[in-house]
Amino acid sequence: MFEIHVEAEFEAAHRIVGYNGKCNRLHGHSWTVEVAATGRKLDELGMLVDFKVVKGRLRDLLETLDHQFLNELPAFAGGNNPTAEHLAQYVFEEMAKADFFDDNVKLKYVQVWESPKSSVIYTLD
Ligand SMILES: [Zn+2]
Repeated sequence: MFEIHVEAEFEAAHRIVGYNGKCNRLHGHSWTVEVAATGRKLDELGMLVDFKVVKGRLRDLLETLDHQFLNELPAFAGGNNPTAEHLAQYVFEEMAKADFFDDNVKLKYVQVWESPKSSVIYTLD
């Protein structure tokens, strides 16, 4: 079994509505997002999936979040607070639509750091 990881960053603001503390106030983070994919078979070049392709897809997705007020985006409207947990789930669900995932190459997890020492992993397990 092989497991590949790609990582990218974006900057965005959010507030945690209903939180009893500072996180209720508008503030920003430099978010880091890691995507992990697994599979058993390599292609004719010896790759599970091209890092460049996965990173490109991740960067395109994060570009839609970059320098945004996350609470205002449709994905986090209606009381769906843009916590690191919800961001990880959102990125997972969006990345899972990529055509490089198939019967062999599976999206394993998405990890979102909202600070260097605080992160969340979302997985289907
Ligand atoms: Zn925050």
